[in-house]
Parts: sequence; C-alpha cells; structure tokens
Amino acid sequence: MFKIKIKDVKDGLNPWIESTKILNIEGIYDTLNVDDLVYVTGNIEKEKFIYRIFGKVQTSGTIPCSRCLKEHTIKLESFFNFIFLPFKSENDDDVFVYNEDDEYLNLEEPIINILKMEMPLRSLCSESCKGICPYCGKDLNEESCSCHIEKIDPRWEPLKKLL
Ligand SMILES: [Zn+2]
Ligand SMILES: [Zn+2]
Repeated sequence: MFKIKIKDVKDGLNPWIESTKILNIEGIYDTLNVDDLVYVTGNIEKEKFIYRIFGKVQTSGTIPCSRCLKEHTIKLESFFNFIFLPFKSENDDDVFVYNEDDEYLNLEEPIINILKMEMPLRSLCSESCKGICPYCGKDLNEESCSCHIEKIDPRWEPLKKLL
C-alpha cells in the first residue's frame, strides 16, 4: 500500500522495494486500466527527523487510442524524490508533512500523483493509426469508406452557387 512504517526506518539508507495493485490511473482525458502491479524500487534516507524517499516507479496498462479508441498497452515510468518533514516548510510539491506520532509515512498519494503526471495527453495504438471516419464511424484501419469523396465540405456550398 506504499506505507512506510516509521519505527522500522534506521538512520542512513534503507532500501524500499514494494509492489501494489492499483486498479486504474486517471489522466486528464483518459483512464489507464492498470494490468500490472505498480512497482517501486528506491531508498529511504533518514537523517534525524528528515526522511528523503527516492527511486523509480513503474507500471503498465491499457488505454484507448486517441484516434480509433482501440485499447492498447502503454508503460508508465518515473523517478521520484520526496521529502517528509515533521513541520511545514516551503511550499514544494515534493515536500510532505508527517506528525511525530504517526505510525506510517503514507506514500500512496504522492506515488499515484507521479504516475498521473506521466499519463500521455494523447496515446496512439500505432503512429500510422488512421482513426475513425467522422461520417460513417468505420474504423479506417480495418476498412476504407468513400465518405470523404462524397461529402463536400459545406463551407464550399455557397461558392458552388456562384459558379
Ligand atoms: Zn488507433
Ligand atoms: Zn466514412
């Protein structure tokens, strides 16, 4: 669950390796259905009351193609570097506050947010995806249609009358 038990962390470097199941990650436009586990490999560095947690997070899942909506697999991977302090410090996205009597440092939200930032704005099943015909709805990767020939751009209609 990406929770670090504070009592178990010794001064200096402590390895942190964990994997957790997360169902999906919501991006701005699309949701990734996470098929794999979310893997974290990194370290917790403790210096007195300061915890620096850094490493790499990765997972993979399926997402609809931005052009044809076909589900395809993508990988998300990112590095992180978080600081946990027992008091409020400068406003930084990577700095978090914990209470002295907390049992755990909760990394779940920071880790998921890092993955959200890695979500592509646009994801294509293939670079050459032809998408879906806006007129007849056919998947143009599988069949062709003649809509673009038959349909005349309506903006040209007034000009045609002048001819
Ligand atoms: Zn596609
Ligand atoms: Zn068509």
